[in-house]
Amino acid sequence: MKVYKAYNSRSFLDIPQLSALNDEQKNAIRIVSQVLPFKTNNYVIDELIDWNNFETDPMFILNFPQKDMLKKLNFKELKSMLSKNAPKQEVARYVNEIRLGMNPHPAGQLEHNVPTLNGEKIQGIQHKYRETMLFFPSQGQTCHAYCTFCFRWPQFTGMGDIKFAMKQTDLMIEYLRQNPEITDILFTGGDPMIMKASVLKKYIDAILDAGLPQIKTIRIGTKSLSFWPYRFLTDEDSGEIIELFRRVSDRGIHLAIMAHFNHYKELQTDALEEAVNVIRQTGAQIRTQSPVLNHINASAEVWATMWKRQVELGMVPYYMFMARNTGAQDYFSVNMESAVNIFNEAYQQVSGICRTVRGPSMSAGPGKVHINGIAEINGKKVYVLSFIQGRLPEWVGKPFFAEYDPEALWLDDLKPAFGEKEFFFEKDYNKLLKISYLPGRSISSEDLQSA
Ligand SMILES: *Cc1c(COP(=O)(O)O)cnc(C)c1O
Ligand code: SF4
Repeated sequence: MKVYKAYNSRSFLDIPQLSALNDEQKNAIRIVSQVLPFKTNNYVIDELIDWNNFETDPMFILNFPQKDMLKKLNFKELKSMLSKNAPKQEVARYVNEIRLGMNPHPAGQLEHNVPTLNGEKIQGIQHKYRETMLFFPSQGQTCHAYCTFCFRWPQFTGMGDIKFAMKQTDLMIEYLRQNPEITDILFTGGDPMIMKASVLKKYIDAILDAGLPQIKTIRIGTKSLSFWPYRFLTDEDSGEIIELFRRVSDRGIHLAIMAHFNHYKELQTDALEEAVNVIRQTGAQIRTQSPVLNHINASAEVWATMWKRQVELGMVPYYMFMARNTGAQDYFSVNMESAVNIFNEAYQQVSGICRTVRGPSMSAGPGKVHINGIAEINGKKVYVLSFIQGRLPEWVGKPFFAEYDPEALWLDDLKPAFGEKEFFFEKDYNKLLKISYLPGRSISSEDLQSA
């Protein structure tokens, strides 16, 4: 049994293993954590991080802010402000300025995915793709530890109106009734597994009790298997969680745990192995996903090893993502060409059983764009792309081409190939953006002709 103990920017010096760091290294953590909030825990510290090689250890980098995550100038300025004991307000203003320079709201999540019910916006729900509704339970908007690359970082910094909190279960159920094309509810956060069993149960029971035959899958997006597997083993209410999972399956609803793993090192502890077994015995299926990240997993070996280990444990590899264009993107980002090379090289090393994984893909405004690869057509190098998910379902699967650019990191960096003025989806996408709420649902390109 392990009792959860969290550490953050105020308490991290209490971590015994931190004696491995010199004063400058500790001070760097303190400085960067003013901008990028950080939180870790005793499982990560005791069982995941290799303190003998912490400087290059992916688990250390994943959990502790690094100097190079800020621009040199910002780091220097902030350091000097803190060492001069500058007034709190002044520091806060500067910190806020740095944050605003880090694209805190990528892909228009706030403006474009929040649906309306009877004419009113409902906070706590996002509905971008026809079949899947994201649900942000208000008690699940934090995590057991924070990932240094996380695109949800503004949520953890208290940057204003950004928590997509949701208390109104009734609204969610009503929304589902009015939108029968939704088959999947994805609980997300933060990390919904941070919630007490009794709270999670309240939400899930509301769905089960509402008698919505359309709902085929409940997904829970979580990093808890990686950061706190004891959630399913020895936490006070772990038995209740397991029972709840079983109940969902018994009701004939597929329970999909969308587990977030960034490195095979997260898959090697006894606690992880036991937690996976306990979850799988409930009938739930565990699918895995991760972004490709410089300093953490930017190598085909890491991915191939990770996928093989996941399958060995009975999990299903699902997505490889590009790092979002937010936060410390300069530190973590892997360009499109490298990402697709890493993916292909890893994919080539594993058997078909692991090839359920798709990627690399970019979760951009119009949809999830899959980078299929680089091709040479009539002597011209191009990126071959297609939608895995689209704001308009009819975009999915259709190949399209962008000019080759070795520096490209994200969809925004790309230009259409072959002298085209725009990508095939852009006209409809721009029209969609003018409609206040615009999930794919019943909308098709025909509906947009009059828009
Ligand atoms: C990825 C994602 C989903 C789920 O897509 P699947 O391809 O069904 O896994 C749903 N909503 C949003 C906003 C997403 O980014
Ligand atoms: S667990 Fe998920 S939501 Fe939480 S910090 Fe990590 S990536 Fe972000």
